[in-house]
Amino acid sequence: MSMSKESVMSASIGSNGSKAVGTFENLSLDPSLLRAVWDSGYQTPTPIQARAIPLALEGRDVLGCAQTGTGKTAAFALPILNRLRTSPRGGPRALILTPTRELAAQVAESFHVYGRHLPLRSSVVYGGVGMEPQIRQLQRGVEILVATPGRLLDLMGRGHVKLSGVEVLVLDEADRMLDMGFIPDVRRILRSVPARRQTLFFSATMPPSIRTLAAEVLNDPVLVEAGPRAKPAEGIRQVIHCVERSQKRVLLTHLLREHRIERALVFTRTKHAADRLAQHLLREGWRVGALHSNKSQSARTRALDAFSQGSIQILVATDIASRGLDVAGISHVINYDLPGTAEDYIHRIGRTARASATGDAISFFEPGDREILREIENLIEMRLPLEPELDFSAKGTDVRHGTRATITDAPDRNRRRRRRPQHRHLTSAREVPA
Ligand code: AMP
Repeated sequence: MSMSKESVMSASIGSNGSKAVGTFENLSLDPSLLRAVWDSGYQTPTPIQARAIPLALEGRDVLGCAQTGTGKTAAFALPILNRLRTSPRGGPRALILTPTRELAAQVAESFHVYGRHLPLRSSVVYGGVGMEPQIRQLQRGVEILVATPGRLLDLMGRGHVKLSGVEVLVLDEADRMLDMGFIPDVRRILRSVPARRQTLFFSATMPPSIRTLAAEVLNDPVLVEAGPRAKPAEGIRQVIHCVERSQKRVLLTHLLREHRIERALVFTRTKHAADRLAQHLLREGWRVGALHSNKSQSARTRALDAFSQGSIQILVATDIASRGLDVAGISHVINYDLPGTAEDYIHRIGRTARASATGDAISFFEPGDREILREIENLIEMRLPLEPELDFSAKGTDVRHGTRATITDAPDRNRRRRRRPQHRHLTSAREVPA
């Protein structure tokens, strides 16, 4: 990264060169887009939208540091739709690359929703499903193409898509692409995209390798951040339960009943554990689905649809669902197993309290989890309150029917908590350094 570029970017942090914009009407968007925004029920732009949309409309390259849940999709979709709205039809003029099929589908749906009053065609291509329907759509012509890198390269290799007309490129969740090993594919795709273009680059985190990639693909970018990088949404109540591994199922069932959970996303560490837990819950009479990368694309889509529509209450998933998944009304995220990284914790719990709603994030903590818990607490800069421990081993205690469970001595955290019952409450904005 050249010095000048870096200094432009860091000088832009926080102020990013644009005025604060309080309403969508002030954003100079086409009336048809404003109508679509109103149809969606949005009252005011989210911070990333208020900052990124004016810059993108000016044609600037944008480096957006934002997690899902911040409204970042509209932050790039609205200016793209605005730019393409009056132009002639042809091959793809906007290309959006995403790491996962689920995110690709959601981004494509957003373009569909925001662009519903415009005569633009969008299409989405990802792997794991037949190529033919995607080829047919491409042959009919699309202005906006959303794609995962592998399938796009396949289609390019077979001559079904040409990127020489791309004017705007979006890299969405670039850090996730890095984690999933897609950066070489992204670089190959970039070689087919004109160098003269607008690039909008979004990433939840900015490790050095992402900064390097950003410096390669962006031209004189402006950095915009949706608040502090590692801050969970303020509407999320977070707690931990200290539990032996052998008691996790019982605790989960207890909580599901106790909290009258309507729609819960439960994370396990492995695909196998997700399947086994889903089976167990099914036997207990819950309406449940499982989501992980061993499932076929159609099974994943079915599970997500059923979860969105409420025909299943509990979705047991691996970290494949921790980013990008956008289902409204998830009341609880339960970390049945804590994630491998502190950042994944933030992504997971961000599935609840979407777009300023509230939600609960409950994490199961087992004795071997001390290190990761410490990392999580360091990252979010707060202590997670520990719930009183429930003893499910006592004879005659039928936790499934909510009979009083006894509180036992938990490790040091509980003792500290008893001495200092006024533990900090996590939803207080003052607890989180701005
Ligand atoms: P995203 O970060 O793009 O995944 O968006 C998260 C959620 O916020 C989605 O459900 C959007 O529909 C919703 N959303 C986006 N922009 C707004 C807005 N300005 N006001 C309220 N909700 C929004």
